[in-house]
Amino acid sequence: MSMSALGEPCVLLKLGEIVLKGKNRDLFERRLVDNIREAVKELGLKLDVRKRHGVIAIFLPEGATAEQSETVARRVADVPGLVWIHPAWRVAKDPDAVLKASVELVSEREEVKRGATFAVRSRRRDKRFPLRSNELDRLVGGAINDAYGLPVRLKNPELTVFIEVDRDEVFVFTDGIPGQGGLPVGSSGRALVLMSGGIDSPVAAYRMMRRGLHVDFLHFSGIPFTTSESIYKAYALVRKLDRFQSRSRLWVVPFGKAQQSIRTSGQDRLAVIAQRRLMLKTAEEVAHRIHAAALITGDALGQVSSQTLTNITAQDHAVELPILRPLVGWDKTEIMAEARRIGTLEISELPDEDCCSLLAPKRAETRAKIEDLKQIEKRMDAEELVVQLADSIQEYKL
Ligand code: ATP
Ligand code: MG
Repeated sequence: MSMSALGEPCVLLKLGEIVLKGKNRDLFERRLVDNIREAVKELGLKLDVRKRHGVIAIFLPEGATAEQSETVARRVADVPGLVWIHPAWRVAKDPDAVLKASVELVSEREEVKRGATFAVRSRRRDKRFPLRSNELDRLVGGAINDAYGLPVRLKNPELTVFIEVDRDEVFVFTDGIPGQGGLPVGSSGRALVLMSGGIDSPVAAYRMMRRGLHVDFLHFSGIPFTTSESIYKAYALVRKLDRFQSRSRLWVVPFGKAQQSIRTSGQDRLAVIAQRRLMLKTAEEVAHRIHAAALITGDALGQVSSQTLTNITAQDHAVELPILRPLVGWDKTEIMAEARRIGTLEISELPDEDCCSLLAPKRAETRAKIEDLKQIEKRMDAEELVVQLADSIQEYKL
């Protein structure tokens, strides 16, 4: 046993939008706990993830260090559904134990040396605790002031000691990592992302995971007329995104020959949008096979000629499944900032030979007519082609 008054290291998690849920809240919380357990598996620690009243706590095995609880905190910070992640100390439910732990916790802080201002903020989720929050604040604040002579400042203190009284224990902590927000992955169902090697689609995937969708990834490669580089990029992107949801799958469609038949059967100016419709139809077929209820793309209104309102409408008409476009109202600079934040930008910016470059007409149609597109699709027997393409998909295991 250590002589420390700090108790045991643990991680305290604050829930996001889930707290607004009524009757279903329990379902969401259980999903979130499952997702957290899945995410921390890779750390190889024996962790105990438990629901508390309105929060989740992760307890580390006996003898665990503060560094280990920080490692756990950093990993769960990528799990959607959480707003704050606090590496904390679990202390006995007794005012004296809380006081001693708080004083010791502060002793390790660099703020002590420079005489920084501080505050104590307590809250009781269990009202049976003998002291009220403001009494606990005063008790612990007084002790810290006695021990180190730090001045109390309630407004904008440089150091805050948080004390949270729960049913079975008290949590004491000073820091936190902001979480991803959003809803637990899986709580909204399953969807299929059309994943290029570009900047936009990985961000679109992330935004929809954050709204509770578990996603599969579908990539169209120009093979056999392009190299496999775009597949490697898609693969690297999916690996990067997997830390937000776990169990990701990448499906790849060899699309080169289909593109060739588009080129021989249509007007040049409609080729890009005809190709996009063929991708969507194929994605819909794949979605049915893997039980995904929606498609997701990285389209942003007006960003390129295939994303004008008319052309987006022509794409919606190609399929019956809803097409979710979380980036529709985003500027490119906003998308890039988000890609940088989630770590996909540097992969997306690697050079590759995108399959779309095989069909780059000099002037692309910005107002494609659905009737013209249907003509092209009839000529190349799109219905049959879609089944063939869906049959030819390959799964790339992570
Ligand atoms: P991105 O950066 O996601 O590639 P973009 O700005 O390059 O997008 P487009 O190339 O017009 O825009 O593609 C629009 C959307 O179509 C993409 O966000 C993606 O969802 C889908 N898409 C495009 N190319 C492919 C591909 N090769 N495989 C799968 N989906 C694709
Ligand atoms: Mg692209």
